[in-house]
Amino acid sequence: MTQYDYLVVGAGLFGATFAYEAAQRGKRVKVIEKRDHLAGNIYTKEEFGIQVHQYGAHIFHTSNKEVWNYVQKFAEFNRYTNSPVANYNGKMYNLPFNMNTFSEMWGVRTPQEAIDKINEQRQEMAGKEPQNLEEQAISLIGRDIYEKLIKGYTEKQWGRKATELPAFIIRRLPVRLTYDNNYFNDDYQGIPKGGYTQIVEKMLASDLIDVETGVDFFDQKDQYLQEFPKVVFTGMIDQFFNYELGELEYRSLKFETETLDEGNHQGNAVVNYTDAETPYTRIIEHKHFEFGKGDEIKTVITREYPADWQRGDEPYYPVNNDKNNQLYQQYQNYAAEQAKNVIFGGRLGQYKYYNMDQVIAAALETVQQEFN
Ligand SMILES: Cc1cc2nc3c(=O)[nH]c(=O)nc-3n(C[C@H](O)[C@H](O)[C@H](O)COP(=O)(O)OP(=O)(O)OC[C@H]3O[C@@H](n4cnc5c(N)ncnc54)[C@H](O)[C@@H]3O)c2cc1C
Repeated sequence: MTQYDYLVVGAGLFGATFAYEAAQRGKRVKVIEKRDHLAGNIYTKEEFGIQVHQYGAHIFHTSNKEVWNYVQKFAEFNRYTNSPVANYNGKMYNLPFNMNTFSEMWGVRTPQEAIDKINEQRQEMAGKEPQNLEEQAISLIGRDIYEKLIKGYTEKQWGRKATELPAFIIRRLPVRLTYDNNYFNDDYQGIPKGGYTQIVEKMLASDLIDVETGVDFFDQKDQYLQEFPKVVFTGMIDQFFNYELGELEYRSLKFETETLDEGNHQGNAVVNYTDAETPYTRIIEHKHFEFGKGDEIKTVITREYPADWQRGDEPYYPVNNDKNNQLYQQYQNYAAEQAKNVIFGGRLGQYKYYNMDQVIAAALETVQQEFN
């Protein structure tokens, strides 16, 4: 047996929050991480004075006051408000769908004019039960917005035609009848000044925590399980069990990052490409997350390409449809019998599409269960 109370597999936000709280309670923790850096998918790295979000745009937003106060302990947040812009064949539209979008689309000026226009467009589907995503979107918002701002983007994201995607993917479409481009409705929002990595670094800074990067749990799984009294596992639950009950589905992404010799490339942190022909879904210009901070004559951009997931790829998103959720449930039952000293946590361990605030809340809940 080792001197440690816990082995935490994965130095992402779940693992780090758990390790921090365990150390606060006097427990000794070993953290292993297979990547060569801390922070999992929230990892940011400074280039030319710019915090580059290595695994896609990360905006912290929450209505959970407890979590918002908690995260302030580890970083100071700026007032960044997510207001992405859509580029459809060269024409720009504000997002989320709001009075600016409707005005750009149809020249309407008042909320009533926008409502009348949307209702007129929705008539196309009147009385018909939507059978797929295309019909669902048209029944909610009409053809113009569907064709220009939803269709191409969604088809690229899922790698399938909108007519072949189930209607339930779009249960509702937030429509805002004010001139407000704030993407989120949450009470709190921002980006940590100086990036996200510091949050995890500070969480893991305790003398009671030892961290090793570049170490894959599966290289010595049996030994770890024997040596450590308890394991917190934040990797893929199906991989933990060697896919014995079957494979869960994930979506992956490819990132193409480039440094440009110009101060300001697109004038916004996030520009979505909503046509079907452009192969990427969005371009992130990282310096705008901190209001242009960094090198005045350079900028770093990342193009984001959705990708199918195969074993060996990074599993960025769980695909939470009924089939996968049932399989996950089977793995959970299996874990309760076969892996009694393992806690499965985080986006991959709990197979849930968690945002950062939700993953902190989930880790704090696990801490409550473990220590109270
Ligand atoms: C493209 C993208 C954009 C996002 N944007 C936002 C956003 O704007 N706002 C928001 O709130 N959330 C966003 N999220 C979600 C956010 O990234 C997650 O909520 C959070 O990172 C989850 O933390 P985690 O610890 O569960 O997982 P992870 O960050 O994935 O950490 C798990 C860690 O475990 C390691 N690991 C896995 N298997 C092993 C193994 N066998 N051995 C050792 N280590 C292992 C992995 O390398 C990884 O570092 C986004 C996610 C993605 C992918």
